[in-house]
Amino acid sequence: MDIPRIFTISESEHRIHNPFTPEKYATLGRVLRMTPGARILDLGSGSGEMLCTWARDHAITGIGIDMSPLFTEQAIRRAEELGVSEHVHFEHNDAAGYVAADKCDIAACIGATWIGGGVAGTLELLEQSLKPGGMLLIGEPYWRQVPATQDIAKACGATSLADFLTLPELVSSFATLGYDVVEMVLADQEGWDRYEAAKWLTLRRWLTASPDDDFAPEVRAELTIAPERHVSFTREYFGWGVFALMRR
Ligand code: SAH
Repeated sequence: MDIPRIFTISESEHRIHNPFTPEKYATLGRVLRMTPGARILDLGSGSGEMLCTWARDHAITGIGIDMSPLFTEQAIRRAEELGVSEHVHFEHNDAAGYVAADKCDIAACIGATWIGGGVAGTLELLEQSLKPGGMLLIGEPYWRQVPATQDIAKACGATSLADFLTLPELVSSFATLGYDVVEMVLADQEGWDRYEAAKWLTLRRWLTASPDDDFAPEVRAELTIAPERHVSFTREYFGWGVFALMRR
């Protein structure tokens, strides 16, 4: 069980697999006013940076589920490095349908809402692991600028304009689903650069090391188009944020 190989190559050196920087995760950890011992479930936990740094800085405990064996292994190593292995647990698994055995204070899905078939389905899934009165965290892209045409939306990597909402639409969609938005931290273009531009050197080094790999043509094609696609589309059109929600 694994995610598509292009991600485990291009993001093999990433600690954070989304446009959040370490500073943004630190801000989010601070503003949520978590109490020591708070229990967090993270679906699509990637390389575990959120849970590991929050365990170090806020004494939370956590469970992270991720479908990438590589990222899960990196998360376990990061927990060891930060001395929090006894407080955070990472599991290689499909998070679709995952419900925690013990209910959590915070249930999160940061940049992987396809796990529940979209935002609404992911909120329903996370709710099943949440204590009454608990908080949900959703990390999700939105249109910072709405593309003028479907072709531009596709060039951004969306299947259509309808894949994403604007920020006001996204915030009001949480209300429609029955939630108060109780906090929010938004990524910025610098964060997008850290996420996207950090892939290019990794791709280039992989190509140099593996010129005869069957996958090399795909990696070459990606590196050839990625920088222009980023500056023309992703960086201009996409916003991204983490929203903290509590049921009304
Ligand atoms: N929340 C992390 C990672 C976001 S990237 C961070 O902030 O860094 C999306 C993550 O979802 C990747 O790590 C990918 O491996 C994982 N993923 C994709 N499909 C999944 C699934 N069905 N179940 C669990 N994890 C999944």
